[in-house]
Amino acid sequence: RANVGLQQEQGVNTRLITAAEISEVAPGYSSEGVTLACYEPDTGVADPMATTHCFAKRAHDLGATILEGTAVTQILTQNGRVVGVRTTQGDIQAPVVVLAANVWSVPLASALGIALPITPTRHPMLALRRPNDFGGRQELHAVAVDLRYDIYLRPDIGGMTLVGSTADVLTASDPDHYAQGVSEEEIAHFWAMGARSIPALARAVPRGGWAGIYDDSVDNHPILDRLVAYEGLYCVAGLSGHGFKLSPLVGQWMAHYILTGQKPADMEHFAYDRFAQGKEIRPRYPSGVLG
Ligand SMILES: Cc1cc2nc3c(=O)[nH]c(=O)nc-3n(C[C@H](O)[C@H](O)[C@H](O)COP(=O)(O)OP(=O)(O)OC[C@H]3O[C@@H](n4cnc5c(N)ncnc54)[C@H](O)[C@@H]3O)c2cc1C
Repeated sequence: RANVGLQQEQGVNTRLITAAEISEVAPGYSSEGVTLACYEPDTGVADPMATTHCFAKRAHDLGATILEGTAVTQILTQNGRVVGVRTTQGDIQAPVVVLAANVWSVPLASALGIALPITPTRHPMLALRRPNDFGGRQELHAVAVDLRYDIYLRPDIGGMTLVGSTADVLTASDPDHYAQGVSEEEIAHFWAMGARSIPALARAVPRGGWAGIYDDSVDNHPILDRLVAYEGLYCVAGLSGHGFKLSPLVGQWMAHYILTGQKPADMEHFAYDRFAQGKEIRPRYPSGVLG
């Protein structure tokens, strides 16, 4: 209740609903064991690939050069300020460097003596082809976070449903050497949980899945700041598994901060030194990282 109130205060179109209302707003979902749920009519999903390509195209149109297949191996510094980066294709001079390399930001910062409190964790995702009599190929179903079973579900094109895990931290993983597929056990587990959430999924066809890496910060919120040890060095890392939805705002905030030196009001919460100062962002209410 408190989380929904908090979101409403921020202008989010969300409301509490009873178990009986679930079948109206989210046909196909079970209401077994539900005491209370919340419903956001305006929420949906965006295609992550298309969105990323659109960001890249817009950046290119505005004059950015994107170097694919080029890894930064070192951030170059001189007299307390950054002067560029060393890459696998040679050095690039730059007065400003934004460290935004997901979990690989950690070793790049560490080489400068800066510790980023970020842990890579592995998160599996199962793909199920829905039975034809439920949410057929052209149909979609509601997106849900189902805290009963620690999963989220979302429809995908081609009659698919993706089932992911909301468990905060699964296992700390080496981001360069981890199981990128899903195991038989994981398929069985997430299929069973998905079918408890949407009973028709018991008749789905599992189509495999994949696992990705989250860059979990200590409080599961990003570090959006300059790294004061070196003039001109900025950090956008530790997005902790929810960086896609934050990305437009993060881009606007960082551009504003780098160009003006002024942080937009709410950005201060995501300062690098919050961990050292005991100002980690902790939820006032359980269930997720809100509050
Ligand atoms: C399974 C899964 C499901 C998710 N679901 C959601 C969701 O529903 N909603 C949501 O908001 N978020 C979700 N996320 C999280 C979201 O994908 C991330 O938070 C977001 O992509 C992080 O953005 P980023 O730019 O920090 O990192 P990335 O998108 O990983 O981009 C970092 C880039 O840096 C490059 N790079 C790394 N090292 C170097 C180097 N040394 N030199 C040059 N380039 C380098 C990488 O190749 C990459 O292109 C999910 C993540 C996973 C794994």
